[in-house]
Amino acid sequence: MSSLDDLYRRVIMDHYSRPRNRGEFEDDETVTVNMNNPTCGDRIQLQLKIEDDKIADARFQGEGCSISMASASMMTDAIKGLKVEDALKMAGIFSKMMQGEEYDEDEFDLGDIEALQGVSKFPARIKCATLAWKAMQKGVQDEPNSE
Ligand code: ZN
Repeated sequence: MSSLDDLYRRVIMDHYSRPRNRGEFEDDETVTVNMNNPTCGDRIQLQLKIEDDKIADARFQGEGCSISMASASMMTDAIKGLKVEDALKMAGIFSKMMQGEEYDEDEFDLGDIEALQGVSKFPARIKCATLAWKAMQKGVQDEPNSE
């Protein structure tokens, strides 16, 4: 195993054991999305606070495999403070990464998210990694103030 794989695995396990943005808002979220991935049994509830077309805050809870939970932790960290359109662009880049396609590495600082790129080699796990991103995409669409 390469040291890069090892590093990536440690980043994933760190997010899994110490998830960022885990929890629920006290009623001031603007949208809540529930989504699951039946092939693995992953479940996630994602809440977003969208203000002025910006993702002001994000929280998630749920249960599932290390990849699904680490991905939710990384995703919520990455989109906080982004404009909605930029969060959607990032979701597009993540989807390309999962499909093993080329993506523009310079468009965003992906940070910890890059640790998930190895998942693209395991087709059965891709849905685990994309679950949180799909929830975010749906949440943005469902958001009552979105056009
Ligand atoms: Zn899973």
